[in-house]
Amino acid sequence: MKKRLAILGATGSIGRAALDVVRAGQEDFEIVLLSAHTGAAALERLGTEFPGAALVLCGEGPAGPRIRRGREALPDAIGEAGADITLNGIAGAAGLLPSLAALRARSALALANKETVVLAYPLVKALAEEQGVPVIPVDSEHAAVFRLLEAHGRDRVREIILTASGGPFRRHSLRQLEKVTVREALDHPTWSMGPKITVDSATMANKGLELIEAVRLFGMEPDRVKVVIHPQSVVHSLIRMDDGALYAQLSRPDMRLPIREALYWPELSPFPFGDLDLPGLHLDFEAPDEERFPMLPLAAEAARRGGLYPCAYNAANEEAVEAFFQGRAGFLDIPAIVRYVLDRDWEGELSLESITEADGRSRRIAASRIGG
Ligand code: MG
Repeated sequence: MKKRLAILGATGSIGRAALDVVRAGQEDFEIVLLSAHTGAAALERLGTEFPGAALVLCGEGPAGPRIRRGREALPDAIGEAGADITLNGIAGAAGLLPSLAALRARSALALANKETVVLAYPLVKALAEEQGVPVIPVDSEHAAVFRLLEAHGRDRVREIILTASGGPFRRHSLRQLEKVTVREALDHPTWSMGPKITVDSATMANKGLELIEAVRLFGMEPDRVKVVIHPQSVVHSLIRMDDGALYAQLSRPDMRLPIREALYWPELSPFPFGDLDLPGLHLDFEAPDEERFPMLPLAAEAARRGGLYPCAYNAANEEAVEAFFQGRAGFLDIPAIVRYVLDRDWEGELSLESITEADGRSRRIAASRIGG
């Protein structure tokens, strides 16, 4: 029986990699829904390739008659799609409501949208349990940890170690970081991704979000989630057991691996895109520099404080990165803006309302700092 699959963010980097996985396993999947933020023409072409799929364009732009329009149309389309599994590859906080819509529709959730976890994982987890469907991480580090915990159990795990490429400015001094341009920030050494996440990788905000993600997803205390710089992006993450033994997942850096693992979960199937060769392989590890990359300790602080702090961190960062793209903020202004926002009070219970309120408030405070 084919799995009925919905892909959200189908024209983005996760969506395109997922479609590669589907094309290599045509007998295993039936695409029932494809959504995109922009790229009506690309979505239209996918509609021709997968004629059974409903199509939703969430952003602006002209589109043909087969495509449903608007962000509000997506939850309904998810509800009607009857997917067995929904891959959420939407970028940013906009991914949260579609995640909840998928779970409400009793679809398994393959989650590449880290904001769903960072902002609201307690709500997401409760809904998934109520509906009896799994949430499977697709972020490469968390997908690795998910597999490692499946293999080794959780009880004896002392810490989770997330690997980070370190981004293109790993060797930059503070003075050099100050002058980083948008163009330089978009040039990532090992992973090819969307523009926002590429900048997040350069500031290490991406790893900061992933640290919060790991804390929430795996129910780990923040001081037991560590980050190590590993420029080759071959080791996707590690766990350290009570007895000191480390276990890691390694492969070529290719998002099709975690996507494929999630879409086929709980089954394992041979990876058709080539194996990692060990001879000649060099693996480097170093500690992250928190002074040059303050987005990492700021995330650890947000994770420790809990409540709505992770939400404030995320929204402030999204605003700051947008201002950086528009030339209204420098590269080092990004952590300064987030610091400014985190200094406000973000205590509070998690609910959809409080998250929406904190998201908006954080953006307004960030905007006042950017403007001022
Ligand atoms: Mg990642």
